[in-house]
Amino acid sequence: APEPVTAPAAVLPYQDASLPVPDRVTDLLSRMTLDDKLGQMTQIEKDALVPQSDLAAYRIGSVLSGGDSTVSPNNAQTWADTYDSLQRTALATPLGIPVIYGIDAVHGHNAVRGATLFPHNIGLGATRDPALVQRIGRAVAEEVSGTGIDWDFAPCLCVARDDRWGRTYESYGETPELPSALTTFVTGLQGDTLGAGPAPVLATAKHYLGDGGTAGGVDQGDTRLSEADLRAVHLPPFKEAVRRGVGSVMLSYSSWNGVRSHANTYLVTDVLKGELGFTGFVVSDWAAVDQLDGQSGFTGAEIATAVNAGVDMVMVPHDYKKFLTLLRGEVTAGRIAPSRIDDANRRILTQKFRLGLFERPLTDRSYTATVGSAAHRELARQAVRASQVLLKNDGGVLPLPKSARLFVAGKSADDIGNQSGGWTVGWQGRSGPVTDGTTILQGIRAAVTDPSRVTYDRYGNGIGSGYHAAVAVVGETPYAEGRGDRPGGLGLDQEDLQTLARLKASGVPVVVVLVSGRPLDVSAQLPDWKALLAAWLPGTEGAGVADVLFGDHAPTGKLPVSWPRTSAQEPVNDGDGKDPLFRYGYGLTYSGAGPTPTPTPTPAACTARLRTVASWPGGHQAEVTVENTGSAALTGWSVTWDLGGTRVTNLWNGSLTTAGGRATVRNTAANGLLPPGGTTSFGFTAEGSAATPAPDCAGS
Ligand code: BGC
Repeated sequence: APEPVTAPAAVLPYQDASLPVPDRVTDLLSRMTLDDKLGQMTQIEKDALVPQSDLAAYRIGSVLSGGDSTVSPNNAQTWADTYDSLQRTALATPLGIPVIYGIDAVHGHNAVRGATLFPHNIGLGATRDPALVQRIGRAVAEEVSGTGIDWDFAPCLCVARDDRWGRTYESYGETPELPSALTTFVTGLQGDTLGAGPAPVLATAKHYLGDGGTAGGVDQGDTRLSEADLRAVHLPPFKEAVRRGVGSVMLSYSSWNGVRSHANTYLVTDVLKGELGFTGFVVSDWAAVDQLDGQSGFTGAEIATAVNAGVDMVMVPHDYKKFLTLLRGEVTAGRIAPSRIDDANRRILTQKFRLGLFERPLTDRSYTATVGSAAHRELARQAVRASQVLLKNDGGVLPLPKSARLFVAGKSADDIGNQSGGWTVGWQGRSGPVTDGTTILQGIRAAVTDPSRVTYDRYGNGIGSGYHAAVAVVGETPYAEGRGDRPGGLGLDQEDLQTLARLKASGVPVVVVLVSGRPLDVSAQLPDWKALLAAWLPGTEGAGVADVLFGDHAPTGKLPVSWPRTSAQEPVNDGDGKDPLFRYGYGLTYSGAGPTPTPTPTPAACTARLRTVASWPGGHQAEVTVENTGSAALTGWSVTWDLGGTRVTNLWNGSLTTAGGRATVRNTAANGLLPPGGTTSFGFTAEGSAATPAPDCAGS
């Protein structure tokens, strides 16, 4: 077992935890050489650090594990040992500045085999449940802390506007309101105040700005929007994350009207750090600075452009010697001002101090056993349930009776890799038993009264009559980033089409569970299916899907994105006047007589008041205040504002659980200006009730 490091007696002011953080930073900065400072701005892939002593020799301030970086054997213990070993190397430098280690724990601590994997963000968007997402953030922080790691490159706050984009599943949804509401993940990771609570992990709001708005849904592409539209659609989640004290922001590979984010002084320095008041640090994306001139291989000009635009830390991630030489050259030649270097260092060191890294640099092993713990898996299963969106249910075929003979088919029925998607023990993820968990088939078998009445064949071979229903679990196989771009469309693959054709030919009613990171083109097949359940990428707890299939829990998920008729209709988004197959916010639940009793709706009641807050010559700003006067919790409140031609929907990010609870939503779209003569409508969904708002909780 590694020897514990005893913190040196606090002889110097920066080592004194009782002093205010700004004073500690000032003291530390005064003792740092230029090379110490440049090292703090440098982030290296763990596997590129050869020999490990270079960490100290080059005074490197940060290490990351990129999507394909791992340890052997891949378990929480080894990750923690690896972390501690690197940290001891950093602590052995003259000033003993701890390294900050970052990783993409984007749906759980996904690099670690055996970690709890939650639904990818698109599924969390469907839950519309900020409190749940905050609890998930806390669970992720515990698992990440249990391996020593300090910093999570999450949440992705992209507003995915075109489902052909390969990162759509990393988005909470297509409207600015939904990702804004789910920035509670930041609070879950960091705690209310970074460092004040246990197991704090630094969060990253990414990718700034407009990554989800690129033309054609092309990853790393160009977002062509007016400034007003960029601000209205893509900025609000970042504003909200900054309000929650997010410690870091990662820039996007994409461009805005042809200008790369990493070179955009206006967006990074003026808007993010100035206007939004962001006091954390800005990190580049992986090799993004190196790509600025369109060629690989760093140049001093690229580095100066990025640092002067406001990048505080560069995710190099490989050639740190060349990077540091060039960075030093830009500073000594006067092309990067010393004040900019100091500002970047102040920002980075502030977060290191706040995290408590100087006091507690090594892994808190009391969290190591939380990796893949039963409590976290139970939370993930709850999230899986809440993320299911029921899109079709003809004749109430769902919920399925637990005693019926069932036929289960499809390539994703018994595949933990498929249901977990990209960023799962590897950047791209892959099919097969990549990690521990429960497949959807295992969940089904555990839910029924007699597992021997469940027949499974991946391809649907051997199905005959005599089954109550066939459950086809089909959809996408794992991918990440640009490799998931589908400019040619989002149709089902040949294997799925053939499996579905076999099931159809049997005459047995077909229930489709779609495992995918986004809406797929299903218009042509939908008439053949009795039911369609969008399961998104649920992660390791497949039993949560079975919970909904058999009615132990009624579906409550609502579409986080519009579901196009065909992907040729893209981009399709809420309020754009197009006619999607299923609109944003759509989602059915169980009602009426099903084979299994459905939960009884709780009576819901509320009073609502609409009032004008301020009036200007061109219009007014309005707000809606709702009070819960019934006994059911009210969730999923939406208010639709008429902006004269376009309509914008705000989701209220919380729930009114108790009688007397109140909340107010004010229009923020179009700078709060509502033209005269429009209609504002609002509605709640009461927990446990049908998808329609309770009668007293809707109006206009
Ligand atoms: C992705 C980021 C990620 C980074 C580090 C990049 O390819 O765009 O989202 O945080 O890699 O793994």
